[in-house]
Amino acid sequence: MAVTDPVYPVYVETNVMAGRIGPMKEDGRYDKLVYLPCTEENGFVPEIPKIPVDLIYLCYPNNPTGTVLTKEQLAKWVEYARENNSIILFDAAYEAYIQEDDIPRSIYEIDGAREVAIEFRSFSKNAGFTGTRCAYTVVPQELMGYDREGNPHSINNLWYRRQTSKFNGVSYPIQVAASAVYSPEGQEEISESIDYYMKNASIIRESLKNLGLSIYGGVNSPYIWIKTPEGMDSWKFFDFLLEEAHIVGTPGVGFGPSGEGYLRLTAFNTLENTKKAMDRISKLSL
Ligand SMILES: *Cc1c(COP(=O)(O)O)cnc(C)c1O
Repeated sequence: MAVTDPVYPVYVETNVMAGRIGPMKEDGRYDKLVYLPCTEENGFVPEIPKIPVDLIYLCYPNNPTGTVLTKEQLAKWVEYARENNSIILFDAAYEAYIQEDDIPRSIYEIDGAREVAIEFRSFSKNAGFTGTRCAYTVVPQELMGYDREGNPHSINNLWYRRQTSKFNGVSYPIQVAASAVYSPEGQEEISESIDYYMKNASIIRESLKNLGLSIYGGVNSPYIWIKTPEGMDSWKFFDFLLEEAHIVGTPGVGFGPSGEGYLRLTAFNTLENTKKAMDRISKLSL
C-alpha cells in the first residue's frame, strides 16, 4: 500500500486496523506502507513508487497540503496502476473547491482510469454533511482486482456484496437533503458558501505572504500549508501561534513524517474571525 506523506490519517489508520500494513516500527513508520513524500522540494508532487504496490491512496485537491495535480501528473498514476495491476483510491472530497480551469475534478477524466480507480465523493465538504453523514463511492464495472495467480475478479461484485451485508444505508431524510444539493437553489447556496470560504483562503494567503512566510495551497482548496519559520518545528510553531496570537492550527507532523516543518490553517471559519486571526498574526515578529 502506498500513501502520500503527509496524508489524511484515516487512510493509514483504517489499514492498520485491518492488519494490512504491519506493526509500527521504532521510527514511527509502518513496516508495509510505502510513503511518498510531498514536500517543498518536489513541489508536493508524489513520485511514482519504484516497486509495485496493490493500493494507492490519492487525494486531490489535497488535505492537508491544499495542493492539486495536473491532468498530466495524474495520468502518470493511472499508467503506473495499469502496468502494475494496482488500484487507485481517489478521494475527491474537495472537488467543489477547484477554481482553476485545467485541474481534473475526477480521476475518470484520465483515459483508462475506469479500469484501475475507485473514486470517493462526500457531501461533507461541499454541503456541510459532516455530522449527518452522506457520501458515495464509484466502483466501475471495468475495475478488476487480481489474485496471486493473476486471475481477475470484479471489485464491483465484491463491493456490492460488502455493502449489502455490512451497510444499513443512509437514512431517508438525509438522502432527501443530499438530493437537494443538486437542485438549482442547492447549487447556488453551495457555490455561495464555497466562494465565502475561498475568500477567507485568499485573505489568509495574502496576509501570510506579506509576513514573508512560504505558503502553499489555498487556491483550489480551503487549506493553507505553511512552512514553519526557521528554527521552529511543527509543534513549536503550533505553540507559538497558540500562545502569542491565540490561534489554533494543525501541526504538519501529525499528518506524517514529511509533514514536519509545516502547519495547516483552514479557511472554514467566518470572515470576521479570519480577519481577526490574520490581524493578530501580522503583529507577531517572525
Ligand atoms: C473531510 C474529508 C473527507 C470526508 O469524510 P466523510 O467521512 O465523508 O465526512 C474525505 N477525505 C478527506 C481528505 C477529508 O478531509
